[in-house]
Amino acid sequence: MKIKVGLGYDIHRLKKGRDLYLGGVKIPHPSGFLGHSDGDCLVHALIDALLGAAGEGDIGRLFPDTDPAYRGIRSVVLLRQVMARLRRRRAKVLNADVVVVAQKPKLAPHVETMKDVLCPILGVTKDRLGIKAKTNEGLGLIGRESAVACWAVVLVEEKAGKKA
Ligand code: MG
Repeated sequence: MKIKVGLGYDIHRLKKGRDLYLGGVKIPHPSGFLGHSDGDCLVHALIDALLGAAGEGDIGRLFPDTDPAYRGIRSVVLLRQVMARLRRRRAKVLNADVVVVAQKPKLAPHVETMKDVLCPILGVTKDRLGIKAKTNEGLGLIGRESAVACWAVVLVEEKAGKKA
């Protein structure tokens, strides 16, 4: 049995008139993320943390933003594909912890809904997924509501032996 840790980070610009998807949830807000996919930086950070723990590269390598197949795709679809890769490695998530930094909108009211969406995909109970929302105290481009950033760390248990 191997225990492995993975770290992920992502940041996306906000643009007026786009839908905002964060943590797999559509959140009412005047602006949403610029991105090749839905721009869900929370899910992207989680994906990179999972791929890092599994030793499987990163989100850009797996799902290139030059590939039209991923244009406008919901990031939770990509997360499901990454979890399928982990299962093929006989790996499971022990826990994940996320910090999302957004000046607006207020995210705390949406954290439970994010967990409702993400926990079944990650295969963890709600006590094993932490999602903490912070503002940036008005500082910098996140403070000016131009972007949202996210950090994620995951712990993965991989069974020794051949891939399934
Ligand atoms: Mg991204």
